[in-house]
Amino acid sequence: MIDFHCHVDLFPDPHEIARECRERKLNVLSVTTTPSAWSGTAALGGGTVVTALGLHPQLAHERKSELSLFDRLLPGCAYVGEVGLDGAPEFKAHWQHQVDVFRHVLDECERVGGRIMSIHSRRASTPVLDLLELYPRSGTPILHWFSGTVRELDRAIALGCWFSVGPAMLRSKRGLELARGMPRARVLTESDGPFARISGRPIMPWEAGLAVDALAECWGSQPGLVEQSLRQNLTSLSAGASAVSEPAKTKWD
Ligand code: MN
Repeated sequence: MIDFHCHVDLFPDPHEIARECRERKLNVLSVTTTPSAWSGTAALGGGTVVTALGLHPQLAHERKSELSLFDRLLPGCAYVGEVGLDGAPEFKAHWQHQVDVFRHVLDECERVGGRIMSIHSRRASTPVLDLLELYPRSGTPILHWFSGTVRELDRAIALGCWFSVGPAMLRSKRGLELARGMPRARVLTESDGPFARISGRPIMPWEAGLAVDALAECWGSQPGLVEQSLRQNLTSLSAGASAVSEPAKTKWD
């Protein structure tokens, strides 16, 4: 099972969550929202829990000064996230800071030879794709919880994007329609816990697997077969990451 976008460090008891993920042999991409959170979060990692270096667009204006730390940590990190842009009205005031930070991140990722990036694009699919187009050697973008239009989806596919989809996204008709159009060889599951919720409470990382049944239905396939292709996808994606010389904490078990 795979949870390719989870905020392990933001659960009330992150140690317990990380331990249970390992016990369940759940492959987790543990994303961070600030560079200063990286070392503490990486300490929770190991085994099947891999930590990504991020600077969340909603925090861009407050944490821009941490970009120098981002640059120092990046050479040792195979995975980057959560990064991206957020076009929701409450974050519009800080739009330019978001763009500056995301451009900086993409530029640095190019400089170090490309990274696997978990990207936030809420209400900002087109500007995210515009920037990805400007930095074609920044690595492999994985659009997490993609919520753009079908046209934007097609453009993302043409740009080589991957997608991580979760149970919350697949609850809506629109989410299902988007998932139907995604290339099966470029899809992974995610929880986005503890932000995403199911049954009125934060979703747990191992519940990312609930997306498998919805994907099987979308694709007219069997859950077992979908599970198998998700696993293959993770293998082919991380083959690219192994080219990066990295500390043990950013490698899958
Ligand atoms: Mn997230």
